[in-house]
Amino acid sequence: MNTLKILIVDDEPGIRSGITRILQNYSVGFPFMDEDFSFDVIEAATGEEALELIHAATPDIILLDNKLPGIQGIEVLEEINKQKLDTAVMMITSYASLDIAVKATNFGAYNFVPKPFTPQELKSAIENISKHLFLKRMTRQMNKEGKQIRFQFLSVLSHELKSPLNAIEGYLKIMEERQVGNNMDDYEAMIDRSLIRIKGMRNLIMDLLDLTKLESGKKSRELKKVDVCELARIAMDTVDPLAIQRNVKLHFDADSDIVLTADPDEIEIILNNLLSNAVKYNKEGGKVDLNIRKRKDEVVFKVKDTGIGISEENKKKLFKEFSRIKNEQTRDITGSGLGLSITKRMVEEYHGHIDVESTPDAGSTFTVTIPMMN
Ligand code: ADP
Repeated sequence: MNTLKILIVDDEPGIRSGITRILQNYSVGFPFMDEDFSFDVIEAATGEEALELIHAATPDIILLDNKLPGIQGIEVLEEINKQKLDTAVMMITSYASLDIAVKATNFGAYNFVPKPFTPQELKSAIENISKHLFLKRMTRQMNKEGKQIRFQFLSVLSHELKSPLNAIEGYLKIMEERQVGNNMDDYEAMIDRSLIRIKGMRNLIMDLLDLTKLESGKKSRELKKVDVCELARIAMDTVDPLAIQRNVKLHFDADSDIVLTADPDEIEIILNNLLSNAVKYNKEGGKVDLNIRKRKDEVVFKVKDTGIGISEENKKKLFKEFSRIKNEQTRDITGSGLGLSITKRMVEEYHGHIDVESTPDAGSTFTVTIPMMN
């Protein structure tokens, strides 16, 4: 259970102890919260005492009377507002003039509950204020995390685009200045390297387009009944040239009549990513099996390869954006490190999930499960 700290500021001891008693065994919960809130109550009899307690540790909620012996409640509120403290203030003043009410609103008071109030009125005010506080804090945290992820993404992206550009520019300069003489053959390796870098950039741009499509939300999705085997055949045809080049055999087996409500482009992207990885990270003369089965209310896609495999340690990183496993075996294989993160996000759009089983040096099996009714 989460605890919210409440400070009651009132010069009447009876009011303070009454509120404390009501809130001590009270808790609130909302469907969108994992845990309920309970309350830890502290008391102050004057504005000065309240400010001291607030400065020592900011309470989450303050119940503040205006008429106090020394400085007034409104001045305490003004101070809280000036310091931009993360707390929600509820005024509990018995007779507030319009002037005080306007001032309190300007200083950011969350609401007014005029004394006297019933235990039920107090509880429902506390319930509202807790909900407000929770949502405000969650929103702030989500915005912050969103910004951080965006920034990380952009800095990795600019690096991924800048390094091939620099390499190609370097090769072109060498050629322009004929640095290794006038024989075209001596530049062959540089041209090949440049073409490989360009291919890498093209793949990255294609992956980014998939990602943009995902991020632009559902409006661009076109959901309809799709024949899964037909899409699988298209995906197999797409990777076929790569498989021939790498001498990898493709094999396809599926139940008949599997129909899914989905955006065909998205299912194709999922299959293309898994199949092209299974070929790319395979061994010379290896094999890739695509297996599609219809279970009670879900479709299960299995892409099994006889490739280099993935260690337990590396499995955790696979689905993160721009994450590539760097070792001797993957050194010459180009990729953006975006394919699996895009695949995972797309599968999750359908409330499905993706798993991987793998044995280093023997091969991997990626399993995607998508519910029929999503
Ligand atoms: P990439 O563009 O690098 O292929 P992915 O997101 O598709 O990006 O994959 C991330 C990493 O996971 C790859 O760089 C590779 O190291 C590893 N990987 C993906 N699929 C396989 C596979 N079938 N076998 C072995 N390693 C794989």
